[in-house]
Amino acid sequence: MNIKTARRMVLLFMALSVLMALVGLIFFEPGTTVSMYVTMLAFVLMVLALVFLFGFCKCPWCGRRITTGLMKIEVCPHCRRDLETGMKRKGKRK
Ligand SMILES: [Zn+2]
Repeated sequence: MNIKTARRMVLLFMALSVLMALVGLIFFEPGTTVSMYVTMLAFVLMVLALVFLFGFCKCPWCGRRITTGLMKIEVCPHCRRDLETGMKRKGKRK
C-alpha cells in the first residue's frame, strides 16, 4: 500500500473514531445499549487507525516504519529516499 493512502486512512479512521466518541457522548445516555455500541465502534475505528499506522506507514524502499512527522514527511528519514518517487535526496535536510 502506498504510504499516502495509508496515512490518509489513519487520519480518516482517527477522525471517525473521535466523531463516534463525540456522538456517543452527546446523543446517547451512558450505560444504554446504543451508547455501548457507539463506544465499541469508536474503539474499533481507533484500533483500525493504529493498524494502518503501524502496519502500512513504512518506507516503500527500505521498509522501515515512519511515525515521526508522518503526516507531512516526504523523504524517508532512514534511507533518505523520496517516499513517492524513490529518488535519493541529496544535500541539506529540510
Ligand atoms: Zn526508507
